[in-house]
Amino acid sequence: MNPVFADLPTTVFETMSRLARQHGAVNLGQGFPEDPGPLDVRRRAAEAVLDGSNQYPPMMGLPELREAVAHHYRRFQGLALSADDVMVTSGATEALAGALLALIEPGDEVVLFQPMYDAYLPLVRRAGGVPRFVTLTPPHWDFTDADLAAAFSPRTRVVLFNSPLNPSGTVFPRAALERLARFCVAHDAVALCDEVWEHIVFDGGRHVPMMAVPGMAERTVKVGSAGKIFGLTGWKVGFVVAPPPLMRVLSRAHQFLTFTTPPNLQSAVAFGLGKPEADFDAMRADLQRSRDRLADGLAQRGFAVLPTAGTYFLNVDLAPLGIADDVAFCQALVADHGVAVVPVSAFYARDAVRSVVRFCFAKSDATLDAALERLEGVA
Ligand code: PMP
Ligand code: GLN
Repeated sequence: MNPVFADLPTTVFETMSRLARQHGAVNLGQGFPEDPGPLDVRRRAAEAVLDGSNQYPPMMGLPELREAVAHHYRRFQGLALSADDVMVTSGATEALAGALLALIEPGDEVVLFQPMYDAYLPLVRRAGGVPRFVTLTPPHWDFTDADLAAAFSPRTRVVLFNSPLNPSGTVFPRAALERLARFCVAHDAVALCDEVWEHIVFDGGRHVPMMAVPGMAERTVKVGSAGKIFGLTGWKVGFVVAPPPLMRVLSRAHQFLTFTTPPNLQSAVAFGLGKPEADFDAMRADLQRSRDRLADGLAQRGFAVLPTAGTYFLNVDLAPLGIADDVAFCQALVADHGVAVVPVSAFYARDAVRSVVRFCFAKSDATLDAALERLEGVA
């Protein structure tokens, strides 16, 4: 058996959701919204199942969805794209797995920023990549030229970069992207950019796609997810944008991983991406209200809340409470107080920050208030 996968524990999200069910807890662990998602988009999917084709769609994705993705990114991010620049995948996860398989040869180095989404490292290792880490720490989770200089080498092939960043909620400013871009260009590396949280940016901020940074269009693979854009996380419809020489090899990996993605969901996503800007603003505003409700409630109860500029997540630093074992804290919280959250140390491969826990705020007011009530007296 392959040791990369044989030695892996069950993901922290699955583990915490199981514990939440077991203890009848309020689940603010795994990142999924409580809201059922836009009715018109779901109705389109239902209609497409009943009336549309349910046979294999084209390998690169339904033409209407490829066109809708290109148009959507032209509209929201000013990227000059056409449908030919887009490939549809079964979630961002397939896109990332395929890109790593396609781009890495055994021994190539991959720069990873930790904390990192938990799928990254096993996929990099299974593809034969050698991880080189840039370690980010609270409260700013930022990185310097010196951090990058220590992680890049002549063997760097890919940089896997996630902004907005799960779990910290950091939206990296343009200056940080430009800093990273200089290193990618100097080392002739591909930037594999996980931008699944691109629409969930608060306080009037705007997501800057790495592809828009000078010198990066020809070396960036941009990954998006309809699951995050519409809060329909189980749909697993993702998309990849890349220049033709990279897309050619990415499509070779895709054709033997999943080959296609359900056509009914694809046509519903194509419809959804074309909706008016006000609909996206409203989704974001709802989430921002939930963020503020949870942040205020936690602060009132004595927790040190770290700022969050995007994603469904906010973090609490337990260090001021003298707590330095986030895993033990999360286990006790779910068992003794009935609230499930995620230990941020699970997002590190080494040198983990052990005093931070992640809360998902994409929930109804009633759920957030129920969690806050249970957190009374914990801090
Ligand atoms: N990347 C990041 C940073 C994520 O947070 C997630 C899911 N939360 C994914 C990838 C996976 O996306 P998908 O469900 O579309 O595979
Ligand atoms: N991405 C979601 C999170 O960060 C969970 C995805 C999963 O369960 N694998 O919570």
